[in-house]
Amino acid sequence: MKFIEFDHTKCDECFKCLRECPTKAIAFTNHSRHIIDDLCIKCGKCQMHCATGALKIQLDLKSVQTAIYKGKRVVASLAPSFPGAFKLSHPGQMVTALKRLGFLKVEETARGAEIVSLAYEAYIESGFSDNIITSCCPSSNYLIEHYYQDAIKSVIPIVSPMISHGFDIKKRFGEDTYVVFIGPCLAKKAEAVDIFGSIDAVITFKELSQWLEVEKLVLDHLEPSQFDTPVTQRGRAYPLGGSLWRTDLETRINPNYKYIHVDGIEDCKSFLEAVSKKEIKGYCAELNICSSSCINGPDMPCDAPNLYKRMSLMNTHINQIERTGHIDPPVVTNEQMVRSFIPKNTGFPPINDHQISEILIQMEKYSETDQLNCGACGYSSCYEKAIAISRGHSDINMCLDSLRKKAESLQSIIFDNSPNAICILDGEFRIQEVNPSFNRLLNASKIKLKHWPIAALIEDSIFEETQVAINGHIGKKIYLESIERTFYANVVNIQNGKFYVGIFTDITEYENSREEFERVKSETLITCQQVIDKQMRIAQEIASLLGETTAETKVGLNKLKKLVLTNGGE
Ligand code: SF4
Ligand code: SF4
Repeated sequence: MKFIEFDHTKCDECFKCLRECPTKAIAFTNHSRHIIDDLCIKCGKCQMHCATGALKIQLDLKSVQTAIYKGKRVVASLAPSFPGAFKLSHPGQMVTALKRLGFLKVEETARGAEIVSLAYEAYIESGFSDNIITSCCPSSNYLIEHYYQDAIKSVIPIVSPMISHGFDIKKRFGEDTYVVFIGPCLAKKAEAVDIFGSIDAVITFKELSQWLEVEKLVLDHLEPSQFDTPVTQRGRAYPLGGSLWRTDLETRINPNYKYIHVDGIEDCKSFLEAVSKKEIKGYCAELNICSSSCINGPDMPCDAPNLYKRMSLMNTHINQIERTGHIDPPVVTNEQMVRSFIPKNTGFPPINDHQISEILIQMEKYSETDQLNCGACGYSSCYEKAIAISRGHSDINMCLDSLRKKAESLQSIIFDNSPNAICILDGEFRIQEVNPSFNRLLNASKIKLKHWPIAALIEDSIFEETQVAINGHIGKKIYLESIERTFYANVVNIQNGKFYVGIFTDITEYENSREEFERVKSETLITCQQVIDKQMRIAQEIASLLGETTAETKVGLNKLKKLVLTNGGE
């Protein structure tokens, strides 16, 4: 399964995901919509902002439940930001809940963070690079590998706290232990797949809260339990960012570096740009793609408290252990702790300014003033969109400005060329706009109509009637005596009487021919009646003549019969 699946059927093409995506790693063309793996840094922002659920991040919950059901040794590595994310009166209630769900052991990833801190200290001590960058945030690692390859040599080649903890758990409980990381981070799902052999599944805090709900486990009602291994304050403080450099948390620092915490995608980009271009020197930076670090990770439960409340709850959790505390000695091997960062070519051929200009012309952006850079398409500038078009990630016609212009020009074609008279009035029935047919049909071409009361031209009260019409529309025949013409008028009340649109179809010729037809019809009827009457009279005359001759014939024949009978008797 891909990191993010795009369900086309649910996408409404609002482009919000693309607007939020820091690397524009989503293709929207007429033929396809998909995440561009070569550009994606797995930050999950697109999925967070999709209102229709069209973007789905891989879910491991079923695999975790199956592992528990099958009786595997399932151990949780719980991100130390959890006390800020869930409603708890004691952090130990989460340990109880996870054990009820079937986890054999529950440990804080803070142990992994402490192991990583120890490894970092050695690297920083060695001063291996002009600038030094931490490697805890998988999204910032992906950003460097894809976009700031000159900065790779500055990244400490050490795995993240999650990965080191996963290896450490497997070393302690057996290599076949099923290790589940639980935290607010979506990028960790990708990291767990990329660095093989440490973490078997990643579920987010939001997924965990849904699981607890299904199991009807109310955290606040549970008795607290102890975590299965001790951790340090420094390890617990990782999700707040900057904890690496806090000397009050027992960190040894190399005085040759200036220690900073860089959080949020834009700050990360600008820091990495400065490092890549060798514009800065002597910085040791902890990088986090999420602003305010992992305590503000993307997949918190829906009812999680706000950021500052989360920070406050986390600080309480950190201070519940001794500042000078220690972890049990790590068992993870040096080989497992080391990782490499590989330049990942985006694979797109370079594009020159001439090619961009040609695409901009096809987009009907002929000059700089045509380039609105409105961002509605998802790209921050028309130039950036032109690059995406050149790579086949976007289509020319997906530009709101040009679609609007096209729609407007189609509207004006209809308005200007309609054979019907069209007028638009304001709420006081004053003319705002008329089309050429209105001028022609109402003989108004010589008058400057703007702001005229419509009553000066149309004597009928149809506009006033529309003001109170139930469905805001009236259609009826009207006769304008002043110009001796008949119209079929349709008037529509728009926005509760803010505007009125009148469309008048000239039916004078039709009405005239209809009257003529009525006249001919009635004349024809009269003529028909006269013919019928005449025919009836003739029929009656014929009938009476026939009656007379029949009687005479009858008399004659009777006489003849009598004569024959008389002669026969003699
Ligand atoms: S995960 Fe982040 S980088 Fe990848 S497509 Fe979504 S928003 Fe863009
Ligand atoms: S800052 Fe933390 S939560 Fe955000 S992407 Fe990086 S590791 Fe994940």
